[in-house]
Amino acid sequence: MFSFSISHTDKKTKARVGEIHTSHGVIQTPAFVPVGTKATVKGLTPQDLQECGVQLLFGNTYHLHLRPGEDVVQEFGGLSKFMSWNGPTITDSGGFQVFSLGQKKIKLFADEEETEVNIVNITDDGVKFRSHINGSSHMFTPEKSIEIQKKLGADLILVFDECAPHPSTYEYTKEAMERTHRLAARSLAAHKSEIPNSKLETMSKIQNSNKQNVSDFDISASNFPQWLYGIIQGGVFKDLREESAKFISQLDFDGIAIGGVSVGESKQQMRDVLQWVNPFLPEEKPRHLLGIGEIDDIFEAVTWGMDTFDCVIPTRFGRYGIAFVPPPEGSIKNKFRLPINKVAYAKDKRPMVSDCVCYTCKNFTRAYIHHLFRSEELLAYRLVSYHNVFFITNLVKGIREAIMEGRFDRMKEEWFS
Ligand SMILES: [Zn+2]
Repeated sequence: MFSFSISHTDKKTKARVGEIHTSHGVIQTPAFVPVGTKATVKGLTPQDLQECGVQLLFGNTYHLHLRPGEDVVQEFGGLSKFMSWNGPTITDSGGFQVFSLGQKKIKLFADEEETEVNIVNITDDGVKFRSHINGSSHMFTPEKSIEIQKKLGADLILVFDECAPHPSTYEYTKEAMERTHRLAARSLAAHKSEIPNSKLETMSKIQNSNKQNVSDFDISASNFPQWLYGIIQGGVFKDLREESAKFISQLDFDGIAIGGVSVGESKQQMRDVLQWVNPFLPEEKPRHLLGIGEIDDIFEAVTWGMDTFDCVIPTRFGRYGIAFVPPPEGSIKNKFRLPINKVAYAKDKRPMVSDCVCYTCKNFTRAYIHHLFRSEELLAYRLVSYHNVFFITNLVKGIREAIMEGRFDRMKEEWFS
């Protein structure tokens, strides 16, 4: 039932087209994954996301653990059902958030400066941290992260890892990578030991059946299989990235994720990382690139054989009033961005993108959306977020078709020449 298959590979690049089958539906890859940090993609309903062609949603374990708590999510049938998305979901391990909290200090009480504390304590066992919401103490270990993710019930889950901040010294990056490897092995052991019998029964029931529709089965948070991805770290250092790629690839993970990119390094450094790790990635496992969503980065990710990638950019830009536009108006120079706030659009009668068939572009002018932003109306954020998610999702769909038809290189030229 849970499976990954590759149907097409590009002759000139490492790009590939495939399908991930999960208990909640099929994900055609490459696929862009919008981020629903707190079990919601900001400003958009699950119906909007479906209309946009979204196939997989990303939730954050750190945030969902603190609020509403994994027990609540589990009681409501898991993340997908709780948020009424009902499609495939992926959760991170919480590692990225708790380790990055270590770089900050918070004031426990706004009026008391002396209570400012460092909110993270990293040990080899895990990470002790304080909630950014109310200062309460928590501890994440690989076992705890897996336990929380089991309760959240996403189809794809990630190992607990440490993403070293950028820039970090070679020594610290190596230390963090080695810790990540130890955490990965423990996450894997926890995952393997915790597959309950009910899940195994459901898995074999699905495998031994002709039923195509997953809704024919009672899918609850606790009775369907989850796929665990290992995470490659190693910062911007070639030997560390190669070592990490080798280490993670040889473990019995269902998929491989690449972390520690899009944390402040240059675009060239990000491309280097993808190129360095590629030769070590097992062909038959799905690959996820963490935190990528700008248009040029998406093309690079696909070029280097990534299958899925998540990012907050479409909705974050939606709230900033930045809409994605294709060539010729969009280019690498303006990063394919149209700042609708600008006075130049105050009387512009065109839609944001003339041939875009999304709800926003079919119904509203640039002038109207500009007006909504100037007036700080809530609809402004929603309309541009909708367009951006639709735009990126359909861009990646177009990339998928281009790979299948052997014209991915020509498509890249059209976008970047
Ligand atoms: Zn549109």
